Amino acid sequence: MSDGAFSDADENRLDVIAEPDDGGDPTEALEPPKPFAPAVLAVDISGSRFAAGLVSTKGELVDRSVAEVNPDGTAEAHFTNLATIVEQQLELADKHELRVAAVGIGSSGPITLNCETVSPVNLPAWREFPLRERLRELTSKRVYGDLDGKALALGEGWKGAAKGYDNYCVISVSTGVGGGIVLDGELLDGASSNAGHVGHITVEPNGRRCGCGARGCLEAEASGLAIEAITGRSPTEPTYEIMQRTGRLVGRAAASLCNLLDLELVVVGGSVALGFAATFFNAAQEELSTDARLPYSRHARITPTRLGDRGSLIGAGAVGIRGWQRDRAKARQAAAAERRAAS
Ligand SMILES: [Zn+2]
Repeated sequence: MSDGAFSDADENRLDVIAEPDDGGDPTEALEPPKPFAPAVLAVDISGSRFAAGLVSTKGELVDRSVAEVNPDGTAEAHFTNLATIVEQQLELADKHELRVAAVGIGSSGPITLNCETVSPVNLPAWREFPLRERLRELTSKRVYGDLDGKALALGEGWKGAAKGYDNYCVISVSTGVGGGIVLDGELLDGASSNAGHVGHITVEPNGRRCGCGARGCLEAEASGLAIEAITGRSPTEPTYEIMQRTGRLVGRAAASLCNLLDLELVVVGGSVALGFAATFFNAAQEELSTDARLPYSRHARITPTRLGDRGSLIGAGAVGIRGWQRDRAKARQAAAAERRAAS
């Protein structure tokens, strides 16, 4: 069964948070039972803004607070900034008759497993910042975290454009290029939980030097920063050529992914891609159809994200639920093993 991408069939499983505690996990730290519905406190970390929100187990974003990030702030100032909106949302949970059962984080990378530490490239004051522990101290809840691109992939599969799909990827084209891949219904993690860095697929063999050190990565050719560096124009004022080229390059990367992984759908979001609209998406689909020609890949489609600016928080909520479900499954297995050993 899938615990990576949430589909309709999984929706009831998401209610596991609502079940009374079965006593299987001694680290359980729930408040006394209240009549309130369970929810996840979702946290989204990027270099320019922090967001916190309440996501129900049905995938609704019930409330949210946003804080602009002062790029010159210290590590502690950033955390104080984040803590303010997290506490706001914790207080608002009562008003919405929600019980916060866990915290889910989507953060720009690099991160270590579960956001134990985060070092967002565009937030230089946070280098190996112990975000998970700090949020645990602040909220007294279980905290789970993942990369923002992977969170978005979960969110779009749960409630957005990839709902009902078991094999898809999400590519986010904004300041940088991120993403996440769901295969056989499971979000791919990889050895260090960094799977899905689609921004570093080579799309121009002799292209620009990328921040990662390689040449011609999608991120070095098609991100907002790359577009500005190549053309001298802000991606908010693109020419037709720029929109088309960016679409072609994303379509090229998408074709590699569909051929390699047998994906049915590529969901593309991010301010740059969505801002370039139909010109971008038509060029991307054309390139995908040209480059993905195998019997299983030739019908792959590119489509825009559907959750809009709610996607990152709904995705972070899904990260919280996924982590929670995994912990519960582990606790059940451990309890079963104990029973077997005792009998
Ligand atoms: Zn790269």
